[in-house]
Amino acid sequence: MTGNEHATIRPGTPAEAWDTLVEGNKRFVESIASHPNQDAERRASLTGGQNPFVTIFGCSDSRLAAEIIFDMGLGDAFVVRTAGHVIDNTALGSIEFGEEYLNVPLIVVLGHDSCGAVTATKDSVATGNMPAGHVRGIVELITPSVLAALRTDSASTVNSMVAEHVKQTAVRLLAESPIVAAAVESGKTAVVGLTYHLNDGRAELVHSSGPITA
Ligand SMILES: [Zn+2]
Repeated sequence: MTGNEHATIRPGTPAEAWDTLVEGNKRFVESIASHPNQDAERRASLTGGQNPFVTIFGCSDSRLAAEIIFDMGLGDAFVVRTAGHVIDNTALGSIEFGEEYLNVPLIVVLGHDSCGAVTATKDSVATGNMPAGHVRGIVELITPSVLAALRTDSASTVNSMVAEHVKQTAVRLLAESPIVAAAVESGKTAVVGLTYHLNDGRAELVHSSGPITA
């Protein structure tokens, strides 16, 4: 056994990166994960540098572990996580680092069912009570998405608010970052928004900017 039977060739285009993610998530859903790029050989091959094929900007939720749900390994994903995947300057800087220094061909915004940060925002909008400390800052950043979902459907569920928040986060990423916008405009990168379903492990596409089909 050489240890790299499942080693993947690094996807170079948005469409290739997207296909790799879809296939990995499918294996995870079907419980036939191959755990690629997780052995000592892969580890050793990365000491000189990294060349990830996807930036994942997701919620910090412990059930949303990026490399697990997309069946990836070391050196595959550049991961940025905040509670409720709220955008701030350092999150934007991290995502731009992935574009400028690592030439990552795909950016994923990853939300999930029953998100605690979105639930806290829904409750805050309903009651007018803001959470204490810096959690308040997170709720403030999610509030526009919750209000948009409520404008569409006053009986919106947390999960439909999550989908709205994923879309708004993806759109805002391009609006706030000229570097990301230029990468999408040139076709070098695509941005997709996914919602992850806790019950079956499926990541569902809810938004895309740029080419993700070949
Ligand atoms: Zn969450």
